[in-house]
Amino acid sequence: MGKMKIAFDLDGVIANKPPLVPKELLEWFFKGHNSSALSYRFPRYRLEQLIRKLSHFYLLRPPIKENLALIKEMACQKKYELFIVSGRYSFLESETYLWLKKRGLDKTFKKVYLNLQDEPPHLFKEKVLKDLKPDFFIDDDAALIAYLKSKLKKTKILDYSHQKKFSLGIDFK
Ligand SMILES: [Mg+2]
Repeated sequence: MGKMKIAFDLDGVIANKPPLVPKELLEWFFKGHNSSALSYRFPRYRLEQLIRKLSHFYLLRPPIKENLALIKEMACQKKYELFIVSGRYSFLESETYLWLKKRGLDKTFKKVYLNLQDEPPHLFKEKVLKDLKPDFFIDDDAALIAYLKSKLKKTKILDYSHQKKFSLGIDFK
């Protein structure tokens, strides 16, 4: 039996938003002021990239504890292969690896896919998932989930947009 491949988005699934900042405000900032559409704006200005880098500093991104625990448990079980597929842009690469290290996740994932070519996140994720063909992908962006569902037939997309509890052990059987 092959191992079950499970891919996770990072922000909003494993890493939480900065405390005290409403999700709507972050989406307004990151998604070109239209949170229901697939319009992601790449921050062209140095200052905006710097603000984003600071906002992704690991202390400002607490883990989503129950998912972190679940992932660590799965990592011990050997029947899963775990991946991260994150739309984070290239200028967040070092912040991302620092975050994973600080949360004890630097050896958990078989591969961490980051959007290093700064593509539109939904196209980047579609491309990676088509190639990787995981059994499951978990994301928290409703518009992106709808897009991926229409494009990917081999992968079950799980919706974490309302932070509904999900148990990997039960749902994935
Ligand atoms: Mg996300």
